[in-house]
Amino acid sequence: MTTRRDFLKTTSLGVGLTASMGWAALQAACSPGSLDKPLGVALVGLGSYATGQLGPALRETKYCRLAGVVTGDRTKGERWAADYGFDPSHIYSYDTFDQIKNDPDIDLVYVVLPNAMHAEFVIRAAKAGKHVITEKPMAVSVAECEQMIRACQENKVTLSVGYRCHFEPHNVEIMQVAKEKPLGEIKLIEAAFGFRAFGWENWRFHKNLAGGGAMMDVGIYCIQAACYVANELPVRITAQEVKTYPERFPDVDETILWQMQFPSGTLANCSTSYAVNIHHLDVYCEQGNFGLSPAFGYDGIQGYVGDKKLDLGQVSEQALHMDHIALATQGKAQLATPGEMGLRDMKIIEAIYAAVASKQPVELAW
Ligand code: NDP
Repeated sequence: MTTRRDFLKTTSLGVGLTASMGWAALQAACSPGSLDKPLGVALVGLGSYATGQLGPALRETKYCRLAGVVTGDRTKGERWAADYGFDPSHIYSYDTFDQIKNDPDIDLVYVVLPNAMHAEFVIRAAKAGKHVITEKPMAVSVAECEQMIRACQENKVTLSVGYRCHFEPHNVEIMQVAKEKPLGEIKLIEAAFGFRAFGWENWRFHKNLAGGGAMMDVGIYCIQAACYVANELPVRITAQEVKTYPERFPDVDETILWQMQFPSGTLANCSTSYAVNIHHLDVYCEQGNFGLSPAFGYDGIQGYVGDKKLDLGQVSEQALHMDHIALATQGKAQLATPGEMGLRDMKIIEAIYAAVASKQPVELAW
């Protein structure tokens, strides 16, 4: 993996014509200033994403350090404390969480719980006076997202969503190409993200904890990509749902195909699924195409811009993202993935579900 230092060194040197555009933007987002001391982060929910990605990323951050955890499993918390070198007095349970208010070592709370628990813990973190990051999807309804934004505003803390692709070099490059349009106007965006899901006991397959199925879990990456490529808000949604394994997914959506129309006329055609592996982003323009395949995973992302290959190596996008958020909480960067972006995406998800249910197009007013 490219280290953070290698990455910033490479960006400052530039890496060629098309490949330099997004990297410069990313470098600007990552290095606008510095902090005297790193912010203390508490991870809430020590599951697979926290363990496999966020904990390791916190070993690479410059402006954040893991200072505590919130977990239902005290023994696991103690293992984390030993592993990451913080005092066990900074281990909280979901019941004792509110005491975090009196913990000066914790500046930023990162909610990595099942989707339907995000709103409660973001609001409790805000009331404790802590800045908050919540994983995607921000919550399970528009109403919840609005409550979370209000709570953070009232308590004067920042709210960010864990949309890590905004700090993944290939995706950032695509955003920049989409802005600069070297291949002419964007006509059609195709985005797909799905995987063959197993393990029916997992909370992901239960609406009360997940809020929805593949759409909430990975379809949201396609919504994100369509919006950051189009650089507009969609105004009309059409959608179709298919259940190829109705017995496996009685409670949540399995496969949804949907279309997003943008005011300029650009159309995004997207799909998400728990039944098949599907994973790409292709953007069709007047004079050529660009895209990524795979597009949104933690590693191995590759792409193309016209006939040029895009292979920018790998960095810890989570580390870059958390450092950016730390700077933003101190007024040293403009937050790239604010709660308002999570709310926007939830409005689109609700419109997609409404279009599936009604079998009619749904208009979106912003
Ligand atoms: P896991 O199931 O692996 O972990 C969730 C953790 O939440 C559990 O380990 C547990 O931690 C805690 N928890 C508390 N109450 C419950 C409950 N009732 N049921 C299950 N878990 C509970 O999930 P993930 O880590 O995969 O996902 C967590 C969040 O992160 C989701 O919102 C998901 O969408 C998001 N995510 C984001 C990714 C990204 O790339 N941005 C990638 C993967 C996930 P403990 O034992 O410590 O109490």
